[in-house]
Amino acid sequence: MKKAIIALSGGIDSAVAAAIAKKDGYELYFLTVNYGQKNVKRELANSKKLAKFFNVKEHKIIDMKWLGSLGRSLITDGDIKEGDSADDLIYVPNRNSCIISACVAWAEVIEAEAIYTGSEAGPWICPDNSPEYYERVNDLVSISTKLTKNLKVIAPCNYNKKIDDIRLAHEFGIPFEYTWTCVARGDKACGKCEPCRGRREAFKKLGIEDPIEYDN
Ligand SMILES: [Zn+2]
Repeated sequence: MKKAIIALSGGIDSAVAAAIAKKDGYELYFLTVNYGQKNVKRELANSKKLAKFFNVKEHKIIDMKWLGSLGRSLITDGDIKEGDSADDLIYVPNRNSCIISACVAWAEVIEAEAIYTGSEAGPWICPDNSPEYYERVNDLVSISTKLTKNLKVIAPCNYNKKIDDIRLAHEFGIPFEYTWTCVARGDKACGKCEPCRGRREAFKKLGIEDPIEYDN
């Protein structure tokens, strides 16, 4: 059976990417990264629940805490408080590239043919999330790998808005209580950061109940 690695965060988008990879006929391998994000406990707990839900072949949790130690993001930097929710602060410099690199390395080891990420549509606050980025990454992967052939990095949600991913997750039957979106906190969702606002608005528009707890 062909193998796919899913860069799984414990959020809705990467869970949808996993469901699409499964539908595309792949055996699933999850890779989750601890890069020092404030919500890490919640993300890791969710990723384990989702690994069970999807009955994955293997789930690796990779330590990349050095990335968060560099600072400059609401997601990782303790000095930046949740009230300071400028949208630009949800960018963690070069994070997605680092995660894709880890996935490519593992793909070589297990001879996977695909890597799926849950990156969603623009304005692409993270440049290493954009369609142009994935196009170039695939060029790079074609010359940088040795042990696996025809490896492709696939971002099936790259033109989806949050509302599209929530609709898809609902259709796939993904348990929303296993998904987390808040980047400011992991105990209770803050309700203020850009991802929290987007999640709540989308659930409201779709008329679907969001089972997670919000602070306000
Ligand atoms: Zn939040």
